[in-house]
Amino acid sequence: MTTKTIVSDKGNKYIVPVVSSEEMEQIMFGMDSPGWCLTCGEEVDGVEPDARKYLCECCGERKVYGMEELLTMGVLIIK
Ligand SMILES: [Zn+2]
Repeated sequence: MTTKTIVSDKGNKYIVPVVSSEEMEQIMFGMDSPGWCLTCGEEVDGVEPDARKYLCECCGERKVYGMEELLTMGVLIIK
């Protein structure tokens, strides 16, 4: 998995995951439920697919989202 930095309309910087379609399949159908911090780009384990605004233990921001939620929000890029 790689990452990409995007800037929102409001000027906020986000680090978003870039995954292959195989990796996306693993995320959707795999046993572990990864989440993602949009602020620091840290992968977080054990997050519900539709989690929103969870606290990131890495940077302290409430920017952890489930992968499916990221996809819904349009901030998960599939190669
Ligand atoms: Zn973070």
